[in-house]
Amino acid sequence: MNARRLSERLAAVAGRVREGAVLADIGSDHAYLPCHLALRGLISKGIAGEVAKGPFESAAATIREEELDGTVEARLADGLDAIHPEDGVDTVSIAGMGGPLIASILERGKDRLDGVGRLVLQPNINAVAIRKWGVANGWAVTGEEILKEDGKIYEILVLEPGHASYDDKELLFGPLLMKEKSEVFREKWQREALSWKQILRQMEQASNAEEIGKRQEGLQQAIMMATEVLEDEKSESQ
Ligand code: SAM
Repeated sequence: MNARRLSERLAAVAGRVREGAVLADIGSDHAYLPCHLALRGLISKGIAGEVAKGPFESAAATIREEELDGTVEARLADGLDAIHPEDGVDTVSIAGMGGPLIASILERGKDRLDGVGRLVLQPNINAVAIRKWGVANGWAVTGEEILKEDGKIYEILVLEPGHASYDDKELLFGPLLMKEKSEVFREKWQREALSWKQILRQMEQASNAEEIGKRQEGLQQAIMMATEVLEDEKSESQ
């Protein structure tokens, strides 16, 4: 992967950034995403925010090599601190981290989101944490995508300002993804349900302590929801 040729995962994130956007890409190891969009003239300005020195230097090097100094800027900053009011950022992307970490970055920096109209988020795991953060903070899920690359399954979420409420299934599976029920979606949740069942079996053999009982209930509930969502799809297609 490089700024000219993105992975399928990052290309899907890039595809959700509106033409002409002022983009802040947070956790922008190598700055491939903003540089890719700038090289194609698809963003008017890009900020590559990085908290770690090594990745920040890689981001700065990509910007230099691609001669994008006037359009993309690397900033060494924690989360949304990379965004300054005068930047006029309207789109924030955060990709390649766990859902809870993405949600905590948004939570800690939410006062920097004034004027931002779109969040493009790609959690590697636990997208549910982002949907819950969105509901609690006035962001609705307006786009969702799921894809498989090199054996790994990724979800991409687009959030825009708006009030939405989702039930437990929509929070876990994604309100749009669970309607679409693509091949990859079914594979993801079949895999997850299988691993929850294995954990349950191991717990049953281990102990009966109260804490374990609660965790078992949570897993049983999740398995039941996955079964219902996957079975809905069978009955819909009959
Ligand atoms: N976004 C790129 C992608 O999807 O390919 C890079 C993903 S890399 C796995 C995650 C990057 O996020 C790392 O370079 C890490 O230093 C950075 N990161 C983690 N927490 C961060 C934070 N609070 N603020 C800025 N960057 C952060």
